Amino acid sequence: MTHRTGRHFLHIPGPSPVPERVLRAMDRQVIDHRGPDFGVLGREVLEGCRTIFRTKGPVVIYPGSGTGAWEAAIVNTLSSGDRVLMFETGHFATLWRQMAARWGIEVEFVPGDWRHGVDPALVEAKLAEDRSHSFKAVMVVHNETSTGVTSRIPAIRKAIDAAGHPALLLVDTISSLGSVDVRHDEWGVDVTVSGSQKGLMLPPGLGFTAISEKARAAGKSNNLPRSYWDWEEMLKPNANGYFPYTPATNLLYGLREAVAILLEEGLDNVFARHQRLAAATRAAVEAWGLEVLCLNPDEHSPVLTAVMMPDGKGADAFRALVLEKFDMSLGAGLSKLADKIFRIGHLGETNDLTLMGALSGVEMGLAAAGVPHRPGGVLAAMASLRSGLDG
Ligand SMILES: *Cc1c(COP(=O)(O)O)cnc(C)c1O
Repeated sequence: MTHRTGRHFLHIPGPSPVPERVLRAMDRQVIDHRGPDFGVLGREVLEGCRTIFRTKGPVVIYPGSGTGAWEAAIVNTLSSGDRVLMFETGHFATLWRQMAARWGIEVEFVPGDWRHGVDPALVEAKLAEDRSHSFKAVMVVHNETSTGVTSRIPAIRKAIDAAGHPALLLVDTISSLGSVDVRHDEWGVDVTVSGSQKGLMLPPGLGFTAISEKARAAGKSNNLPRSYWDWEEMLKPNANGYFPYTPATNLLYGLREAVAILLEEGLDNVFARHQRLAAATRAAVEAWGLEVLCLNPDEHSPVLTAVMMPDGKGADAFRALVLEKFDMSLGAGLSKLADKIFRIGHLGETNDLTLMGALSGVEMGLAAAGVPHRPGGVLAAMASLRSGLDG
């Protein structure tokens, strides 16, 4: 392997780069997870999670990936044979649907074009039709990482209420939490699912569920079997900051630091920064004469931008060239978007200059790969960033 100078540009939409402070915080000896020091750490991170999820209720932290937390949301609330309403926003919604189906849940999967989020009017119409209240849950991916489209959860909540429907609302915020506003309590979400390696800027390895009282009550009478994922088993020792089995202690050191970083910047500032970087990225794409996959201006993702390749040009060859020439990883198109799009991650530990570096790599890569485009995307992004600065 040849030595590469400088740092690798990890611009995929998760895992995202881990801040130095978080790396340093994790670089510590493991401690006794039944000892007194652990209880202090456990209580701190559980409280920190409540702040980030904006909830007064419990947040469960699993050693596991986001996919595990998806499963926890299902097995703790639903029963085999239950009906649920889901929307085909992209690859991740499709995977979650498959998981629900494997648990014997009957999924009504509203088809989508992978370029729009969940239509709140459709949520209301589907639920209003369901007079017998056969849908037990509405399951939505907040930020569809495969497409760069962010669904409007508050509007979906309003739609459920307007239909007067008692369904639970389960929301995947795996790639939005810590980058995009997420309000578990205020938005009336019953289970908010998340993961460590995206907006929370941690390495992969933690899955989260924030749980409403209604969701917890549903778990008292549902019939899906569970052991590892059982909320009640977790919540008993969590009350004192402990876990029923060995927790991912070093990731929890990192989580404590990541929460501190987010709160130092201020969550609202964090969200505004993501919006600003996303707007600059879209300005670049537009100047290149390329097309952003997301079609609804109200649903552009602050976390990533998915860019369509002009006809006949493979996105994967382009990405391979960018990696080889500029040491930058861009996100691939997933399943039906394979080779048709590339995704630029602009989440987490990212600022104006890291974004400008990434966009420069994309623009140079487009030229090197012979992808038809206009130059000037980098200039347009700089102008966009400048217009957002005070004074
Ligand atoms: C990354 C991601 C997942 C999968 O999470 P893992 O940690 O890879 O299991 C699910 N949903 C969304 C929206 C994601 O971005």
